[in-house]
Amino acid sequence: MHSPNTASEEVCSDSIIDGKEDTLQNSVRSETTLKNSSSLHKIKGDGYSKVLVLYTGGTIGMLRTESGVYAPETSIMEKRIKLYPQLHDTTAAEDYAIEHPEKNFMILPDTGETARVLYVIREYVPLLDSSNMTMDDWIRIAMDIKESYEQYNGFVVLHGTDTMAYTASALSFMLENLGKTVVITGSQIPLYEARSDGRDNLMNALIVAGNYVIPEVTILFNNKLFRGNRTSKISTSNLDAFNSPNLPPLAKMGIGIHVEWRNVYRPSSIEKFNVHSLLNRNVGLLRLFPSITVEVVRAFLSPPIEGVVLQTYGAGNGPSQRRDLFDEFKRAFRRGVIIVNCTQCSLGQVDPSYETGSALMDVGVVPGSDMTPEAALTKLSYVLSKKEWSLQTKRTMMEANLRGELTVHKDAKFEDLDVITAVVKTLNLSSAEEVDALRDAISPAILCSIVSEGNLEKLEIMRQFGAYLSACDYDYKTPLHIACSDGNLKIVEYLLKHGASIHMRDREHRTPLMNAVVNDHHEVIKLIVKAGGYLNLPSLTIGEMLCSYAKQGDLTRLESLRLAGADLNDPDCTNRTCLHYAAEMNLEEVVSYLLKHNVCKSAQDLYGRTACDIAKVLEHDSLVKLLQLENAD
Ligand code: ASP
Repeated sequence: MHSPNTASEEVCSDSIIDGKEDTLQNSVRSETTLKNSSSLHKIKGDGYSKVLVLYTGGTIGMLRTESGVYAPETSIMEKRIKLYPQLHDTTAAEDYAIEHPEKNFMILPDTGETARVLYVIREYVPLLDSSNMTMDDWIRIAMDIKESYEQYNGFVVLHGTDTMAYTASALSFMLENLGKTVVITGSQIPLYEARSDGRDNLMNALIVAGNYVIPEVTILFNNKLFRGNRTSKISTSNLDAFNSPNLPPLAKMGIGIHVEWRNVYRPSSIEKFNVHSLLNRNVGLLRLFPSITVEVVRAFLSPPIEGVVLQTYGAGNGPSQRRDLFDEFKRAFRRGVIIVNCTQCSLGQVDPSYETGSALMDVGVVPGSDMTPEAALTKLSYVLSKKEWSLQTKRTMMEANLRGELTVHKDAKFEDLDVITAVVKTLNLSSAEEVDALRDAISPAILCSIVSEGNLEKLEIMRQFGAYLSACDYDYKTPLHIACSDGNLKIVEYLLKHGASIHMRDREHRTPLMNAVVNDHHEVIKLIVKAGGYLNLPSLTIGEMLCSYAKQGDLTRLESLRLAGADLNDPDCTNRTCLHYAAEMNLEEVVSYLLKHNVCKSAQDLYGRTACDIAKVLEHDSLVKLLQLENAD
């Protein structure tokens, strides 16, 4: 049994249909701890993963100018990267280019992961020092990810370190229902210099984005992967420039890559990926200090301000004896300004257990738990721009956990489950690591069996005890795969609402959507598609499948494929569509179904024949009539 920390998978496309491997497809499989796994993943055949690199600027791509300062240098990044063997495998790239002359990818060398990472660098104009970035740049990055979302397995953003935590936090909110990995990285020393940290950061970012489904906006720095909205820049000079004090790293790069899968945040609504591209700019950060004047506070809270992050002392305390300040807070609250209480300490959270803290709540200040200032500010900007939310909803949202940016409450420990406790006792386990290992080993099995039983109550208990609902078994099947195969709509809905990933792949490279398709569970297919699932197969593969099912008269399967997003007009390699085959086999019901779904009647096969021509040759008279009847393509 694989531990729940094992293997998220994603590929650009569904590559196994009814057990047949589609060699055209890319596949990605990754394990939490991977030793070098050699030549299994040859550049020819399967095993590619595509990553889009958005290069926005920052030290990573800077050169020293004549006056001795660092400034971004345009149009050299790609050329220079090609000179570093750890970032680009020239031979593999040449091999790939022979088979795919239309594309110009850079290729990471074999790093022991299952997929070879192909990547494209899109350089922004102008390249920016991140201190010059604005909200418009965040929107541009978000829109670029949206535009290329389905073409790539993951995304890397190269960015200056100074405002990286702001960009990461903002993107985490703007990228709604994110299902793919977004990694932001940069460096303290330019990539082109001998001692640069940029090469390792870029390589690790590409490996993570190309091999692991961590559907979050993350920051990768100095061998650690952080949740972006939990991260702050903590050093101007150390290579360990970032930290996320209130959440351990999501992954660490040592000899292997260890991902803390249970900490990975997953979208919890059944919606497709979407970019919210509006931001409210009337926000600010106000840091209290002893003897701050009421004039400063009043000026700060004056219109047009709509949202303020108030950086208070310790566990969220303010000077409760300063009536003048509290009156200003009250007035601002009445005007509809949202004030969020965040601590000036980097570790720990706002906790109204002191009179000085609860006094702020009494004047309408919203507790911000353990949000970083960067997360709180960008969240305010996002929340305030939601036109569909009332003021009260916006306040509630600021307290709620939208993207893992704050701690709401601690769930009961999974170890408390009776079965685990019993096994722990029997096996005489003592250390926390042993208990963790046991839980990781047995929870996928328990979860999968509960799902195949269809037992929603037990599933909820498991979740409350902190079980990781995307844990996969030996075959890399997740509970969602099983629920989709079984067609259990309620369980599918439950799993999606609790963040199960639609992009995970089992040992045969099937996604949950494909499992629903090959078992003809139409309602489940509709739900997965609503949640952003898609076939993403080459149209030729879809055409071959459609034609084969049409020939067999399998209307139900045709409908499954249609619901999953297949275009019924996709032809097979002889340029025939399913209508040609239905006409040839004299399948009136299939022909009527296809006509109802507006399949093109004038499409010609390799020999220039339409479906009607075939029906005529074979004297399928009633089909000829049917096909001629509505002959108005
Ligand atoms: N000033 C640079 C920037 O933020 C610093 C860096 O990239 O490390 O763009």
